Amino acid sequence: KSTLYVVATPIGNLNDISLRALDILAKVDVVAAEHTQASRHLFAVHAISTKLISLHQHNEAIVSNKILALLNSGKNVALVTDAGTPGISDPGAILVQHVRAQGYSIIPIPGANAAVCALSASGITNPHFLFYGFLPAKTGLRKRALIELKPQLCTLIFYEAPHRILECIIDMLEVFGPQRELIVARELTKLFETIHRGTLHEIYSWLQKDTDQQKGEFVLLLSGAGTTDKSEISEQAERTLKCLLTELT
Ligand code: SAM
Repeated sequence: KSTLYVVATPIGNLNDISLRALDILAKVDVVAAEHTQASRHLFAVHAISTKLISLHQHNEAIVSNKILALLNSGKNVALVTDAGTPGISDPGAILVQHVRAQGYSIIPIPGANAAVCALSASGITNPHFLFYGFLPAKTGLRKRALIELKPQLCTLIFYEAPHRILECIIDMLEVFGPQRELIVARELTKLFETIHRGTLHEIYSWLQKDTDQQKGEFVLLLSGAGTTDKSEISEQAERTLKCLLTELT
C-alpha cells in the first residue's frame, strides 16, 4: 500500500535525525520539501539522493493533488519541512488531510521539535504546557492573544522571530507584569545555543543590553499563572544546593 511518511528533520545540528528517518528518506520515491535547497543540504550530508519536490504554505493544496497522483501510481512519498516536525507551525496538515481522505496510509517518523527540545532542558517542573506557536505579528493582536492566555496555569510555549523578539517581550511585560518567569531558548542545537532564565523584567534588560542575544531562532517558555521560580524550589533547598556545589568545586 502506498504510504506518506511524515518525517521530522533536525532543527540545527544535522546529526539530530533518526536512523529510521534516514532510511525512509533514502527509500521513498519522492520527498516533498518546504525548501528544496535546505533539504538538499541535509541530503548531501547524509548521502541521500532521493528526488525532491517543493511543497510550502502557498502551494500545499495544489501539490497535494500531485502527491495523491504519485501515491495512486504506487509510489511512496515522504514529507519534510525546513526544520523539525512537519505540521507543527509548519505545512503538512492539509496534505495529511487529503491523503487520509483517499485512504492511503500515513506514517509519522518522529524526531526534533524546537518546543519540546527547549522544554526538555528548561527545568520547569510544571507537567502541563500549552504550545501556542507564533503569536500575531502586530502588537495589537499580539497583546489581545496574550491577554486571553493570561489566566492559563500551564507553561506557555511560543515561537518568535528575531526581528520581533524585543517587542514581543515588551507586550508580555505589559500583559503579565515584570515578575513572570520566562525562559529564552535561542539557537537550539547550534553554535550559539543559549538557554536563559529570568523574570520578564530581567529578560528585557538582558536582551536590550546585548543585541547579539536578539539574533537567531527563539522558543519562549513563559511560566503559568501562579507559578514562580521560587515556588518550584524552596529557599532552604536552594541554600543547601549552593553549599553542596561550593563543596564540590
Ligand atoms: N516545525 C518546527 C518544529 O517542529 O519545531 C518549527 C518550524 S517554525 C516555522 C520555525 C520556528 O521554530 C522558529 O522561528 C523558532 O521560533 C523555532 N525554532 C526552530 N528551530 C529552532 C532552534 N534551533 N532554536 C530555537 N528555536 C527554533
